Amino acid sequence: MKNMRLVILTLLISLLASWSFVSAQAQNPPGKIRVLVVTGGHDFEKEPFFQVFKDNPDITYQSVEHPNAHAMLKAEAAKEYDVLVLYDMHQEITEEAKADFLARLKEGTGLVVLHHAIASYQKWPEYARIIGARYYLEPTVVDGVNKPRSLYQHGVQIKMHVADPQHPVVKGIQDYVIHDETYKLFDVADECHPLLTTDEPLSNKVIAWAKTYAGARVVYLQSGHDHFAYENPNYRQIVRQAIRWTAHRP
Ligand SMILES: [Zn+2]
Repeated sequence: MKNMRLVILTLLISLLASWSFVSAQAQNPPGKIRVLVVTGGHDFEKEPFFQVFKDNPDITYQSVEHPNAHAMLKAEAAKEYDVLVLYDMHQEITEEAKADFLARLKEGTGLVVLHHAIASYQKWPEYARIIGARYYLEPTVVDGVNKPRSLYQHGVQIKMHVADPQHPVVKGIQDYVIHDETYKLFDVADECHPLLTTDEPLSNKVIAWAKTYAGARVVYLQSGHDHFAYENPNYRQIVRQAIRWTAHRP
């Protein structure tokens, strides 16, 4: 009788164990990189943008929009993703959210920053150090130097040059043309490793780079205004490889 109870108990435990294993797998297919896409503060073509992530076979993703995004930077919520993709343009951030953001980077959460997210948190200087660039929505004085307003231009045919063909983020990419928006007169830090450059006069020269911040790998890609960019196969491949690289996947 005692033995029988033991057998039933063992069976129950193993059943429970295998059930929880299966449900954990369903939420996180093995090998997939878990991505959190942050939007809000700037309009964009939602459907074709998210298609870039739906079509990415390396990842599972969820998205969050401001003002709900900062809650996802909390330690408990951050257990749900490996890489943060920023496609927001948001200004308000509390001291608590700043500390959460920095803590996640220190832990090594990957960071991929796209297009207009370069202009977020204009009043938080550390954000510029994290992403390696500063875009000026308004004329600004920095260390006594007058910085004019940064410029943008829609609908430009931009010739892209792969600056480091050996880097995992742009490996396999040949020089290409993309129909997209240009940005000009923004500052890029010396530590940024150039991945893509252009000679387009309406654009800054370096428009994509890789760097690290605290424990995190960081990629900035200036491209990505609308479906012309989202549907460009080179754009898609670079976003895919940027997510892999920041997640430390070969
Ligand atoms: Zn844009």
